[in-house]
Amino acid sequence: MNNVAQLAFDVVVVGGGPAGLAAATSAAEHGKRVALLDDNPRPGGQIWRSSTNAPASRDAKYWIERTAQSNVQVISGARVFSAEASFATAETDTGLLQIGFEKLVLATGARELFLPFPGWTLPNVMGAGGLQALVKGGLPIKGKRVVLAGTGPLLLAVAAYLSEHGARVAGICEQAAWPSLAAFGLATLRFPAKAREALMLRYKSRDAKYWTASWPVAALGKDRLEAVAISRNGSVHEIPCDYLGCGFHLTPNTELAHMLGCRVEEGFVATNELQETSQLGIYCAGEPTGIGGMELSVAEGRIAGYAAAGFQEKAKEFFPVRARYRGIAEAMKSAFRLRPELAKLAKADTLLCRCEDVPFGRVQTHDSWKAAKLHTRCGMGPCQGRVCGSAAKFLFGWNVDWNRPPVFPVRCSSLAQMQGVGPAGKVGREATTRPEPKPKVG
Ligand SMILES: Cc1cc2nc3c(=O)[nH]c(=O)nc-3n(C[C@H](O)[C@H](O)[C@H](O)COP(=O)(O)OP(=O)(O)OC[C@H]3O[C@@H](n4cnc5c(N)ncnc54)[C@H](O)[C@@H]3O)c2cc1C
Repeated sequence: MNNVAQLAFDVVVVGGGPAGLAAATSAAEHGKRVALLDDNPRPGGQIWRSSTNAPASRDAKYWIERTAQSNVQVISGARVFSAEASFATAETDTGLLQIGFEKLVLATGARELFLPFPGWTLPNVMGAGGLQALVKGGLPIKGKRVVLAGTGPLLLAVAAYLSEHGARVAGICEQAAWPSLAAFGLATLRFPAKAREALMLRYKSRDAKYWTASWPVAALGKDRLEAVAISRNGSVHEIPCDYLGCGFHLTPNTELAHMLGCRVEEGFVATNELQETSQLGIYCAGEPTGIGGMELSVAEGRIAGYAAAGFQEKAKEFFPVRARYRGIAEAMKSAFRLRPELAKLAKADTLLCRCEDVPFGRVQTHDSWKAAKLHTRCGMGPCQGRVCGSAAKFLFGWNVDWNRPPVFPVRCSSLAQMQGVGPAGKVGREATTRPEPKPKVG
């Protein structure tokens, strides 16, 4: 039988990326008892994930050290799979953790969006960020031929990282057309550091060809990936490769927010200017509120942390920096909008749900996500629809939001232990919906 640990804090932050680290530290430095829960072995999130204990960049070092120096209780390896008005439940290696809070900050980040195309389930076809994470974790990449395909700035970041680590990146296939990218480039000129960073990434990946208006139509190979067929300028080109890293930009992790009844608009968690969601005392920061990069996540995290600690005036000091970086989020949204051709890549026998082996053709015959799940088991495997659900949203325009625990697969013993175990300590919070602001008159 696993242990059940019960703890209670003033502020609990879920997610240890830039937004979560900034939120937890800001609240703790203002005297609150704070816990930071993250499902990875170390804090840092997607961008500051490191293969060694040494933080990867100056920003990473700054925030990881600042968090360590504050009195934040960092609980790594804790995956929050359920949340209620006053407590969250996480699974750890040693058992179940129930953690009570007065204020909760959701900083759960985003994940890559994957779209199905023939051959996308072949070994060595993976997410672009996933491939980068594997290399950071020790996968040998030196001398391997890599193609990166999809859309968004992550492709360039991954190309630079893999090139630096000895990979032979043959090409970067960006589905956005040149005019969209040029508009994005112009928008980033308002952010000289960002523009410099983009140029630096391109310099580091200079040996890789960069094709615009180009996307994968098939991954080819018998038992494992041998080549990728790319659509470019109206014709199909085959590029031999050992790895294909694919990612069609990012999609936010909003499952806990849905479960807590927070309002979600156009796929993102809606917040007020203090990053508070429609549920009183529940804040949200970083990519679940919009895909905007590390600087925006940190600014939102600071605002959420100060506001959750009751220091609203301090939070307001970060409004200008947040407003500035929201410009990048807007520019990304329009530059990397997905083209309709991408919804037509899958064939009837292409697997859509890779966990439950459900082909695209079977899902296509239904008219909603719910019907498809009930009839085909699509989205009911270990990833809980994170991959196929997000794809189905784009492919069929379905509403795929769900709000029932567990948001991640958990051990049966954890579910059994949830029954009959109450919240950790009496923290006295009740779920309260924040009143809507009155419409402005005149
Ligand atoms: C795969 C991937 C790779 C990326 N690589 C780069 C890069 O190389 N360069 C770059 O500039 N940008 C990169 N980005 C974008 C970058 O992550 C964002 O710009 C930004 O830093 C996001 O910060 P965040 O704090 O909002 O979220 P994140 O950094 O995503 O942090 C969220 C954290 O919350 C954890 N989490 C989520 N749900 C739970 C839960 N229920 N319980 C416990 N923990 C949970 C996640 O595991 C993660 O550690 C990448 C994004 C992705 C998805």
